[in-house]
Amino acid sequence: MAVLGLNLSGYRNGVSQLHRGVSRRLWESAWPNLPHDLIPIDAITNGVHLPTWVSHEMGELFDRYVGPAWRDDPASANWAAVYDIPDEELWRVHERQRQQLVLRARQQYTEDMLRRGLPANEPGGPPVLDPEVLTIGFARRFAGYKRATLLFRDLERLARILDDFERPVQVLFAGKAHPRDDGAKALIREVVQVSRSPEFRGRLVLLERYDVELGRLLVAGSDAWLNTPLRPLEASGTSGMKACANGVLHLSVLDGWWWEAYRPGTGWAIGRNRVDDDPEAQDAFDAESLYGLLEGEVAPLFYERDSQGIPREWVRRMKETIVTYAAQFSTSRMVSDYARRAYGPAATAWHELRAENLGRARELAAWLERVRAGWDAVKVYAVEDDGSELRPADAPVTVRVQLYPGPLQPEDLRVDIVYGQTDARRELHIEAEAPLAFAGQQEDRLCRYEGSFRPGSGGRVGFAVRVMPQHPHLPGVICTGLAHWA
Ligand SMILES: *Cc1c(COP(=O)(O)O)cnc(C)c1O
Repeated sequence: MAVLGLNLSGYRNGVSQLHRGVSRRLWESAWPNLPHDLIPIDAITNGVHLPTWVSHEMGELFDRYVGPAWRDDPASANWAAVYDIPDEELWRVHERQRQQLVLRARQQYTEDMLRRGLPANEPGGPPVLDPEVLTIGFARRFAGYKRATLLFRDLERLARILDDFERPVQVLFAGKAHPRDDGAKALIREVVQVSRSPEFRGRLVLLERYDVELGRLLVAGSDAWLNTPLRPLEASGTSGMKACANGVLHLSVLDGWWWEAYRPGTGWAIGRNRVDDDPEAQDAFDAESLYGLLEGEVAPLFYERDSQGIPREWVRRMKETIVTYAAQFSTSRMVSDYARRAYGPAATAWHELRAENLGRARELAAWLERVRAGWDAVKVYAVEDDGSELRPADAPVTVRVQLYPGPLQPEDLRVDIVYGQTDARRELHIEAEAPLAFAGQQEDRLCRYEGSFRPGSGGRVGFAVRVMPQHPHLPGVICTGLAHWA
């Protein structure tokens, strides 16, 4: 069904840049004649609806400094004005979000415990959660690959981090599992179990009845937002975008949207920028990296206060986070990308194909049938270039191609040079292409093409010759998938 859908679509996309690459690899069998770089799957990264996810008070702050345009037209809003918000003001608003979250969490936690006949607090013990403590949020669907329990790999170390006398940390979990996903339900049980053990009680809490309303409180009131998917399984992820728009610092594996978004000086990247073949090794490495970040960066930065009690560097990162991500990862940007790259061209193609009482569509269908039938007989006979092994990067390389068109006509074909760097395995990474001009047909029907390209960059440059069908009315949204390479 997926291949049918891919082939009947005029446009296909992954939901983040990283996901485009993953999708191309997943579906390369649907376009066996095209190399990875030319598989017609694009990327449009998801976004979140800012007026829905930015908290009421933070929204009012944006109204005053950025201007009300941030709600309806975030791309044109002056986000840099966030730098002008006095640190004290931004921090106070954020602290109030955390306090509201903690109050709501306490209330709900107490209700949940009472319903089960369990004591909500140890008699004489500390209250559940603390409105002044560094709060890490983790809320989303529970699914195995999201690794909600990565934080539990070393419970002793986690207990030390949460219990640190000067720099305590608390963690709030929320989420639901699909009713038939037993693995995910087991993860929830594990979180509940850990949250009830004496060393974590009141410091690590799972909130039940997760819904959009609770989600909104969490993405605004947490200080840092935890995201630990097993790369590359998170196609985009969006809860981190909601958190960032509220100035919550993102603490995430470089997967999904964070792979393209992460900049030093905003949030943090957990683990390395790679995929390990062994998921167990990746778990171990990512957990170690997460503990290291919590101990060495997140907690110290949060508790580094000046005489007015403001964590200046943390607030600087909050501002950087809002300015860098809010507009870029909003639904406004996303919807305009879809309009420009997918729906606009599809609408134009439809108007063209429907012209002359669908005559254009019939003509193209007949042409495509003829081209498909004759395609295997098209053969590239010879490729010559005047390039020497060593040459200046800006010197043009002239390429001549001889091609046998089989039953097709020269005007049915286009011949291009694709070029770019080649890697150590001599694989070509296509960076650009240049058309070759038709230079006549001989009596034996061989067609000649000629043209040149300038590599432009130094290093190990390579090129390939690509032959594809062409028709003056073939809309860009139709990918025939036909190509010959030499
Ligand atoms: C945004 C949102 C999600 C998605 O979170 P991910 O980070 O993409 O997993 C799930 N549930 C709710 C209620 C949300 O608001």
